[in-house]
Amino acid sequence: MSDNNENNPITLGGNKSNNTNEPNQNASQQQNEYVQNTAERANIPAEFVDTEFLTPTDEVSLPSQGKYYPNGQKTVRVKFLTAEDENILTSPDLIKNGKVLDVLLESAIIDKSLRPDDMLIGDKNAVLLSLRSSGYGDDYEVKMGCPECGESYVTKVKLSELKNKEMSIDPDQNGEFSVELPKMKVEVKFRLLTGKDESYLTKKVEHLKKLKKNTGTSSLLTERYILQLMEFGGNRDKIYISKAISSMPISDSYYLREYIKIIEPSVDMEHEFECTSCGHVYEDTVPITAKLFWPNAKI
Ligand SMILES: [Zn+2]
Repeated sequence: MSDNNENNPITLGGNKSNNTNEPNQNASQQQNEYVQNTAERANIPAEFVDTEFLTPTDEVSLPSQGKYYPNGQKTVRVKFLTAEDENILTSPDLIKNGKVLDVLLESAIIDKSLRPDDMLIGDKNAVLLSLRSSGYGDDYEVKMGCPECGESYVTKVKLSELKNKEMSIDPDQNGEFSVELPKMKVEVKFRLLTGKDESYLTKKVEHLKKLKKNTGTSSLLTERYILQLMEFGGNRDKIYISKAISSMPISDSYYLREYIKIIEPSVDMEHEFECTSCGHVYEDTVPITAKLFWPNAKI
């Protein structure tokens, strides 16, 4: 997640450093001094200050380690959440259409070379968790149910203790991974989904839901496979692939889903919990709830 110790170069926002024009250079020097003074007053280390926005910035390590991006970018520069972002988080329209976290990421990621739309979903989640931790604190309150005594209890998870689950297998030159389906005995090639794919899927499923009621969940899986599978038994034709997907046995579909889950870089949400009633210690997934960005929400 966030990596404060690395010595990263500062993004020199709008300053044109190759401009040799004397008055401009003075202006830029003055601006830098102003930034430095402001940062000192606020006790912010100079390397975390973006000179264009005067907002402290941070570098977030991406679980993908850049293996999927053309420029191999391993980190992304974000600004800490500001009052402006608070407006985004409290906008009823954005909350209603579910776009709020996407808009938040658009605003917080100041890196121009990697935008949220092009990021892998696991990388986007790593940025969201880091923004939450720096903006609202590292303690995230969750409600858990004990598998031993059945009692539910409220506990806190330290977000910074969640580690990135990095890519265990490298993609080929097309950014694709291969796996053999055990029942059909065919090789399929798939790619990982990005922010853009996620928005496309959401829209597509909403549209399908309007056409036919109650098909939301099953069609989401099919639509996801159609986007994700690039080759089926050596054939790269999308119409062929869609037909092959509908005839894929459930056991192969399950195998493929689990395989993708293992490969996909993300934040590892598995965490050790201790039941406050009986003391039972067990591993479980940290649930993502509204409390992540709305700490006062009821859980
Ligand atoms: Zn218990």
